Amino acid sequence: MYKKVDSETIERLRHIVGADNVLADADEMEPYSHDEVVGLRADPEVVVRATSTEQVSQIFQLAQRERIPVTPRGAGMGLSGGAVPVCGGIILSLEKMNRILEIDKENLMVTVEPGVITGDLHQAVEAEGLFYPPDPASLDSCSIGGNIAEGAGGPRAVKYGVTKDYVCGLEAVLPSGQVITCGGKLVKNVTGYNLIQLLIGSEGTLAVVTKIVLRLLPLPKLRVDLLVPFDDFQAAANTVSDIIAQRIVPTTIEFMERDSVLACERYLEKELPFHDAAAHLLIQLDGNHREAIDADYDQVGDICLKNGALDVLVALRPRDQDRLWEARRAIIDALKKESPINHMEDVVVPRAEIPALLKGIREIAERYALSTALRPFDRTQGRLCSGQGSGHRATRSAGERGSASAAS
Ligand SMILES: Cc1cc2nc3c(=O)[nH]c(=O)nc-3n(C[C@H](O)[C@H](O)[C@H](O)COP(=O)(O)OP(=O)(O)OC[C@H]3O[C@@H](n4cnc5c(N)ncnc54)[C@H](O)[C@@H]3O)c2cc1C
Repeated sequence: MYKKVDSETIERLRHIVGADNVLADADEMEPYSHDEVVGLRADPEVVVRATSTEQVSQIFQLAQRERIPVTPRGAGMGLSGGAVPVCGGIILSLEKMNRILEIDKENLMVTVEPGVITGDLHQAVEAEGLFYPPDPASLDSCSIGGNIAEGAGGPRAVKYGVTKDYVCGLEAVLPSGQVITCGGKLVKNVTGYNLIQLLIGSEGTLAVVTKIVLRLLPLPKLRVDLLVPFDDFQAAANTVSDIIAQRIVPTTIEFMERDSVLACERYLEKELPFHDAAAHLLIQLDGNHREAIDADYDQVGDICLKNGALDVLVALRPRDQDRLWEARRAIIDALKKESPINHMEDVVVPRAEIPALLKGIREIAERYALSTALRPFDRTQGRLCSGQGSGHRATRSAGERGSASAAS
């Protein structure tokens, strides 16, 4: 069905992107033969690193004429095999299209090329007092183009939604080589087919995204993180839905079981607070007004204590907050070190079903003698129910325990 890449095609590709941007040597191409899916790999016949929309268009025109398959690739951090060239042919890497073209403070928009690393974008906009919330756990390595093609989300989805909620404009190249633009620096863009949302999550099967306009928010001025240990797994799980059922939307709620905490301890070679607890909740709140955020974390603390939390540690300073998140960020690497046989899955349920989900996963794992490391976060955007907090203050600061180490 497809034609093989021959030396003449490679020469033409060199002509389009320059000799330095064409890799045809097996060793050089090896990193492009897989993403982060364990056990899935396929060799490309050639790797081409485009540096402009025009080049992407010319590569597609050539590939279509010659009937050569093209697999787009961002940073290769995907967990669904989308960047693996299972049909051979050309890997079209966007890694060199990595410029932040404009941070538009007046319109609260940023325009980027697809190869920009998500964490770099965070830093660049935060330096201007602005905020791009989507935060896949791989943000230090994955690209915005890959985030769009995968519809990526992260822990902040609880409050802020996922990538698709921030894309206002796209430039993309169709397999024919035709360049299209959809949307722009527009918040209200309601006429016609919603091609932007069609392209988001399409895993590079419909078009290659070459320019992206993203909506920004003002950077919240205040943030507080709570580490809450429980000696009962189910009580921790129930607390998640109890918090959601109140009129507080945390930025994130993370859940770590004892086995995960202990694995992180071994990996980080340091003792973590309350490491014997059956489960930890890691809750982040943000906002702009001290009184409002204090009231929120008081209320969250009350809910946790009512559900049997052993303590509520509060981290207010960035240094303490970073230490508190260190274990959470290390989970995946820690678990990989614990066992070479592991598998990651994302599971999405309505917020109120989180306790049932955790219970069900435990039961299935016990039935098949598997060990699990649960870290659910809620990506849904359902409506919040109303509810009342108890109102008494019961939380305390990590600093009150003598040092930041209480939350590290
Ligand atoms: C440790 C770890 C943690 C992770 N955590 C999360 C998480 O919290 N949330 C989450 O959602 N994902 C997570 N992921 C998955 C992954 O990081 C995301 O899917 C990310 O969006 C992939 O980006 P990438 O640049 O690496 O894309 P790649 O892996 O290079 O490509 C992914 C897909 O996008 C397509 N593609 C890439 N660039 C373009 C483009 N410019 N135009 C069109 N198609 C393109 C590719 O063809 C492929 O189908 C995690 C992965 C790892 C390894």
